[in-house]
This record gives sequence, structure tokens and C-alpha cells, in this order.
Amino acid sequence: MNQDRLVNQFMEMVKIDSETGYERDMADYLLATFKEMGIEAKEDDTQEKTGYGAGNILVRLEGDAAKAPVYFTVHMDTVAPGKGVRPSVEGDYIVSDGTTILGADDKAGIAALIEAIHTLKESGITHGDVEIVITVGEESGLVGAKAFDAGQLKSRFGYAIDSTGKVGTVVTAAPTQSRIEVNIHGKKAHAGVAPETGVSAINIAARAISQMKLGRIDEETTANIGRFEGGTATNVVTDHVHLLAEARSLDNAKMEAQSNHMKETFENVAREMGGRADVDVEVMYAALSASNDSEVVRTAVRAIENIGRNADLISLGGGSDGNIFAGAGIETAILGLGYENIHTTEEKMPIEELAKITELIVEIIRVQNDKEVEA
Ligand SMILES: [Zn+2]
Repeated sequence: MNQDRLVNQFMEMVKIDSETGYERDMADYLLATFKEMGIEAKEDDTQEKTGYGAGNILVRLEGDAAKAPVYFTVHMDTVAPGKGVRPSVEGDYIVSDGTTILGADDKAGIAALIEAIHTLKESGITHGDVEIVITVGEESGLVGAKAFDAGQLKSRFGYAIDSTGKVGTVVTAAPTQSRIEVNIHGKKAHAGVAPETGVSAINIAARAISQMKLGRIDEETTANIGRFEGGTATNVVTDHVHLLAEARSLDNAKMEAQSNHMKETFENVAREMGGRADVDVEVMYAALSASNDSEVVRTAVRAIENIGRNADLISLGGGSDGNIFAGAGIETAILGLGYENIHTTEEKMPIEELAKITELIVEIIRVQNDKEVEA
């Protein structure tokens, strides 16, 4: 590994504007960079569908066909304010000038992958195919990953490189989540003159919510009503209420059961009270759940120990691109890469962690090398 080349690669990329939805320049830069390296990189055709700045980029580093392939995923978009990033090295860190984010989330991961490929080529380490998916629109709801056709991947498992926590952190569990939109319809009436002719949507919603299991459901499952709006004046029996809610669980079936419970409670109470509830449940992403003895976790732990770090297996409260790939049936864990204060103008990247995540990627690929493809 060449640390100067790695740092320069990272600094160069954070200077390219790529706020979510405006990924074109970054995508073009990546395609040109891989081309220069002599590595196959293709943009998929999802841009039309997503309306974002570019499609996702699939990079394939050809390896020994007898060795097991592994995939990595990172995202090229950043949150705002991410235009005109001016990075500099300050002590052990790379920082922005304080007016923007840095974009280490997730360009540190991209830089590490590029340097890992250089290292593999220069060291002559043999390996199986290495597949890299660089997505767009991660920050606005995993848009690129959702549109990506995971059937293009040969790998049975791999890693999203996109989590806080020092290198050695492995996210093995992240919940599935639903978004529940509720429209409750009652019947309008004058509250002073003829309240008995009306059906209050507010009363329906209130009664339904009071009958619902919410908050902490069990160790793995939570639910919440996040928004409640409707009504006009005190003298009007309200005929419409709009609600937004969610359910999360590390277990897909439990999340589904909780979402159904909420949906049915709204519908039943509305019917009993002479109104109607239209409830729309959307599963945002599936759960990511890799057991400690799964190949994806065992490989990561072994590689982490080989580079002199301790593996720290954790679970997260929210989803990321890794959930989408896990949901597509490809065993996935998320690796910490040590970026700090992400999504703020204080974001910074420790140079040591940037080097260490590169080392870890190379080591994961090297450890993979010991395995043969199963028939
Ligand atoms: Zn990220």
C-alpha cells in the first residue's frame, strides 16, 4: 500500500461535487479512473428510473475463476453542504475548511478500494473476482442500491464499507423498516350546531393509537407514530387526519406483524366509529442480519485479527445500502472505516483509519484466496 497515493486519491475525490442527486461528475471521474487502471467498470442503466445524477457503477476486477468472489459496496453521493469541498491535512486528520462536509462518508471507502486494487496488482496476490458496486442516492433512501440489479453479482457475500466506528467494527445486524402512511376519513359537521351528524377523524385516530402497541415492542422491534396532522377550527368536526408512522425490527417477520397490527387497528377502529382508514405500508428495506458463524462475519473477523485489530461486532438502529444487498440474498456485513462527525461540517477522516481500512480490504480478499469455489 502507498499511503501518499491513497491520501491524494481521497483528497482529489472529495473535491468533486457529488451531493445526492448530482453524482454525474463523480461517476465520470470514477469511470475514467478505473479505465486508466485497466479495470472493467460499467455504469448501469438505472439513471432513467431514479432520475438521479448517474447510474450505479459496477467494477469487476477479474481474478482466478477457481477462487471465491467477494463484493464490496460504497456510495458516491454525499449530504449537503458538499459543494466546493476544500480538504487539507491537519495533524493526523484530513478535514474540510469548516464550511462544508468533508465527504469521507463515503469517499474514504471508495479511495480505500481503489488503493486496495493498486496494492493487489502490485503485490501479485492471487484472488478471485472482486466486485465493487458504487451507488448513487444512498443518503436519500438507498435509491441507487434499490434500483441496482443484484443478479449481476457473482459473489455470495461481501461488505458495505460505510459505518462509523474504527476499523475492526463490523455491523452484523441492522433493522428492516416500514413507512406507514395513514389517511383517516370521517364526516364533517358543525361542532356546535350538529356534532352528532359528524364523525371526527381526530377521535378515530386518537382511539386507534390508544389501542396500539407502540414504542419498544420487544428486544428487536420498535414502532412509532411520527406525525399527526389534521383539523381546522374549533367549531368543525374534522373529517380528515393524516399520519406517518414506522415499525422497525431486526426480524423481517416481526416488523411485518407490527406493521399489520397498526394497519388493522386503524382500519377496525375507523370502521367501528363510522369512518374509514386508508393505510399504506411500504417496506423501505429488509433487515441485515449476519450470524457470528456466517462466512461473511468469520472472514471479516479473521481478516481484522490478521491486520492487528480487534473485531467489534455491533448492531445498528437504521438501514443502509448493505440492507438492500442483504435483502437481495447476498450475505452482507457493514465495515466501520473510522470517519468522524459525518453529516456535519466538522466531518474528518483519520489518516490512520484510511490506511487501515485499505489494509483490511486487501486482507479480506487475501483471506478469501484460501477458499475454493464450491461446486
Ligand atoms: Zn454513508
